[in-house]
Amino acid sequence: MVKRVSLTGENDLNAKDKDTSEELIAVFMAAAFVDQYAELVDDLDEEAPVDPGPDFWQKWTTFFLSWWIGQLTGEALASAGNASDISGVGVDFDEVAAQAENWASSYAFNLVTGINENTRQALQRSLSNFYADKIDFEGLVKSLIPQFSPTRAESIAVTETTRGFERGLDIYEDELVKLGFRTDRKWHTREDEKVCVICEPNNNKLRNRDGWTVAAIPAHPRDRCWTEIVVVTVKSVLSLLDLSAFKTDAKSLVNELYGDQRTIGPIYIAAGS
Ligand SMILES: [Zn+2]
Repeated sequence: MVKRVSLTGENDLNAKDKDTSEELIAVFMAAAFVDQYAELVDDLDEEAPVDPGPDFWQKWTTFFLSWWIGQLTGEALASAGNASDISGVGVDFDEVAAQAENWASSYAFNLVTGINENTRQALQRSLSNFYADKIDFEGLVKSLIPQFSPTRAESIAVTETTRGFERGLDIYEDELVKLGFRTDRKWHTREDEKVCVICEPNNNKLRNRDGWTVAAIPAHPRDRCWTEIVVVTVKSVLSLLDLSAFKTDAKSLVNELYGDQRTIGPIYIAAGS
């Protein structure tokens, strides 16, 4: 189990599902890389090795793609479902499912294209070294191993688990907004032996109110930070107050109250809502 606690002691409430997701991806990708490596090396001519060509990469893109669409859709749905369970705010889950699949389908294509492109570029570098007589064929075959290693599989697993769960929250947040909620997102920087300089300044910062230094999580490869949805229900906040006591307009009043939410799991509902 991965420890998923923030710098200020909050727990990631998707921790269990994220552990499962990371493990699943790491196992799948490590196994796929073993096969892809074997096929690639088998294709290489010892005397005159070359890139196996577009058919090889296309085949692997297709293979990775179908699996990843399912995986990322599942992550987004689990995340939206957990957020809804904890907040108690039900939304149109057919719409959530459609949005999750939309996102997963388009993002998965970029992801697997990128994975194969990085592998292909590494192969190109090794081939250059081979033809520059810097490495022999055995050296060429060995130099490709890191691209197909369990370490790379695990790194992809961590980053893409973080991403799928964040995009699921984005989708759930969109549905809350459609229902009339005013929302924001709070960043939780995961406590680690080595907290990264990108994520540390964002801890506990609200996206809209405070601003973040980057657009979204994951902010970098292997990022395990997370966010939670903050809801400020404008009407219910205002109904609690005697407006005549404030010499200010409703909007700035809500802005002043922004830090004053009641926590319900990962969702903050304004007191009295
Ligand atoms: Zn981070």
